Amino acid sequence: MNTQPGNPPESRNQPTAVGATGDLSVDTFREHGHELIEWIASYLENPTTYPVLSQARPSDTIAALPKSAPAVGEPMAQILADFERVIMPGITHWNHPSFFAYFAISASIPGILGELLAAALDTNAMLWKSSPSATELEVVVLDWLRQALGLPSTWFGVINDTASISTMLALVAAREAANIDVREKGLSGRDDVPVLRVYCSEHAHSSVDKGAITVGFGHQNVVHIPTDDYFRMRPDALAQAIAEDRKRGFKPIAVVATIGTTSTTSIDPVPAIADICEREGVWLHVDGAYGGSAGIVPELRHYLDGAERADSMVVNPHKWLFTPVDCSVFWVKDRALLKRAFSLVPEYLVTAQTGEVVDLMDYGVQLGRRFRSLKLWMVMRSFGTDGLAARIREHVRLAQEFAKWVEAEPGWEVMAPHPFSLVCFRYAPKGLDEVQTNALNQKIMDSVNATGEIFLSHTKLRGKFVLRLAIGNIRTDETHVRRAWELLREAAGHSS
Ligand code: PLP
Repeated sequence: MNTQPGNPPESRNQPTAVGATGDLSVDTFREHGHELIEWIASYLENPTTYPVLSQARPSDTIAALPKSAPAVGEPMAQILADFERVIMPGITHWNHPSFFAYFAISASIPGILGELLAAALDTNAMLWKSSPSATELEVVVLDWLRQALGLPSTWFGVINDTASISTMLALVAAREAANIDVREKGLSGRDDVPVLRVYCSEHAHSSVDKGAITVGFGHQNVVHIPTDDYFRMRPDALAQAIAEDRKRGFKPIAVVATIGTTSTTSIDPVPAIADICEREGVWLHVDGAYGGSAGIVPELRHYLDGAERADSMVVNPHKWLFTPVDCSVFWVKDRALLKRAFSLVPEYLVTAQTGEVVDLMDYGVQLGRRFRSLKLWMVMRSFGTDGLAARIREHVRLAQEFAKWVEAEPGWEVMAPHPFSLVCFRYAPKGLDEVQTNALNQKIMDSVNATGEIFLSHTKLRGKFVLRLAIGNIRTDETHVRRAWELLREAAGHSS
């Protein structure tokens, strides 16, 4: 095997030689491709050999890397060795079954295979013509998912990278629906446009704020509506905020309701919010980035009630449908309106089919598009909708079990309802004030995370530091959840 860099253009018989021009040989791909598949297989087989939370310190990876790129190509074997030596220690393992932080997510095997194929094809579904099946598969697979979640047949969906982008696009669509001609005239320097207001709960994801900042509504025009005892948006407070804004001459433009908020997975009362939006003529966007996937489970579908009345909705298969990051589905009720908001076709993108087919570039900001529907299609086909439902159902069961253990243990308390697979809880032994209790829970979290065995994150609920155990990894089973509980109890000073 010739591993010396800078050799003359390779022949087929010199698999790892690097030529002056052109790609590596396909034999090199075969050799290292097989090696990599083996590596990935063992990784997926034994993810727990790594600490789930990287133990790297800031700048460790930077310090281990050269300051500039090599001028002369290096052998793949060496690059892969450095991947293990330099990169892996700084990886936090989202595919680890004891990853319980944030929203635990995972790449399933069909999803990984889909990513591999998409990278090999490197197709760009910006236009139907630039990849007919990439475009049409996206249309079909999003319709499959729509049906599986019980959403309206008239909805049209596209795949974006993240929910943050999907929500931002929803705000632009809402702005377009308001007929204030921002697309053409912009917002600056106009005295004919009132202040535009967006409403979401105090527990909505920060992507709503970022979207409003990005599209020029201004952060101060995101109204955070108070929540009830269960962290759900209060419709009475929403109605009041809208009425007050109207009195001030402001224009309510959109409401974002969340099914599965980030901190606690609370579910805003979407039907009541939809009533208000319909009455007020305000766009309703539903953020089901995490909770939306639960709609695939028949007995959990009711949590999505009211979503069918939305103008737009986001669901992230990369959160709870075992599809590798990134894959965020954005549906709208009015496809023509979304197109009106974004379509702009320069001459070089005109095709014989323009106007007759779906050109995905017309439904968002980006032109180029990864072939994300391929991995989602492979996930949906491999597991089937029943199989996906079974996996989500099991995650919910595990979370309910965990909550029972917490409730049964003196000194521990569950801090929020847990309809899905996230439990918010804390250790609050008698005799400590709130400040001490917060510090104690921070200490417990830091100590269990330092074991490298599990990884949890936290939130604050009404000033209380709360631990979050999120179950969403396809490789998580009851033994992992039991071990997490054991470690937490040990960290709190209980003997197991
Ligand atoms: N919405 C909710 C409810 C979330 O929990 C998150 C992230 O956790 C987002 C939106 C943002 O998701 P993304 O990372 O895809 O932008």
